[in-house]
Amino acid sequence: MTGGLYLHIPFCRAKCGYCAFLSRAGASEELMSRYTAALTDEIKALPADLEVSSVYIGGGTPTALPPALLLGLMAAVGRLKLAPGAEFTVEANPGAVDREYLRELYQSGANRLSLGLQSTDDALLRKMGRIHTYADFRANYEAARRAGFADISLDLMFALPFQTLAGLSRDLERVIGMSPEHVSAYGLTLEEGTPFAALSPLPDEEDRAMYALVTERLQAAGYEHYEISNFARPGRQARHNSAYWRRAPYLGLGLGAHSFFGGRRFRNTEDMGRYLETSGNNKEALQEISRAEAMSEFFFLGLRLLSGVDLAEFEREFGLPALDIYGDSIRKLRKLGLLKAEKDMLRLTPRGIDVSNRVFASFI
Ligand code: SF4
Repeated sequence: MTGGLYLHIPFCRAKCGYCAFLSRAGASEELMSRYTAALTDEIKALPADLEVSSVYIGGGTPTALPPALLLGLMAAVGRLKLAPGAEFTVEANPGAVDREYLRELYQSGANRLSLGLQSTDDALLRKMGRIHTYADFRANYEAARRAGFADISLDLMFALPFQTLAGLSRDLERVIGMSPEHVSAYGLTLEEGTPFAALSPLPDEEDRAMYALVTERLQAAGYEHYEISNFARPGRQARHNSAYWRRAPYLGLGLGAHSFFGGRRFRNTEDMGRYLETSGNNKEALQEISRAEAMSEFFFLGLRLLSGVDLAEFEREFGLPALDIYGDSIRKLRKLGLLKAEKDMLRLTPRGIDVSNRVFASFI
């Protein structure tokens, strides 16, 4: 059995104003310690014959954990059977990590670092509730390079209500100047239940103009635009995340973590008390994926990749031509200029990317 492994760390130093992720600020060290003990039990309960193709420790903020706890988890992962050359990513947030911590992460097996920059404008970072400044970020980035990380991904945000195109342009200039191997650029979503929910979203044209600026500048700097929100230097695509879009199997451990393994989707409880009591045996919702759902997923996950989906692969997997099921939708979307076909590959056009949710809905 082969699959990716995700570990969820649901702690942050402070809660950002826009964030709806499953994470909490201000947890005690005692809670963090009990949590990592439960997560270690879950790691130990993994099937003995599992070969781990990639590891991703995310959250939350993994580096909100005291170093000994995070390094302990990494040691437990290190005792699993890792595929040769497996990508091992740890997310770190500036302001919640220092030089020594980064050095220990690298020496404990992490070979890829994902750093949350979001913006290079300190005033904007404050409004977002981030705990770092651009200077903090630069210090962490340089320390990560010195620690040995040769594969660094930066997260950048756009379509923030207080953001201007000129500000975003400066962010991009600075990001390109740092020359990370990978950039993830996500437009802000105003999530219900967050302080940002009360704000008005940026008009659609401005949001799209910002997205166009991001893609144009990163591509001009030599980054391949390989997924709607992701850009990479040649050969540096995120292998762990790409597996999600290709519907490859993965196991998610920790609070609320989702898995797709053996053709089934399931997730852990989101209730911390219950998680701590039942670690290793807390899969809450075991969902069998029906054939119809798997067919839909083939399109709405696969079309996120700009290389597109392979219709011959669909036929091999499901035993019938995709056009038998989705012919009307595909023809309509091609006529509207939202999808294009080349041989067996079907992919989003630039206009299709701008309305990708509408395109995906046609396959559900
Ligand atoms: S650091 Fe990340 S996970 Fe934590 S509150 Fe901010 S956006 Fe959410």
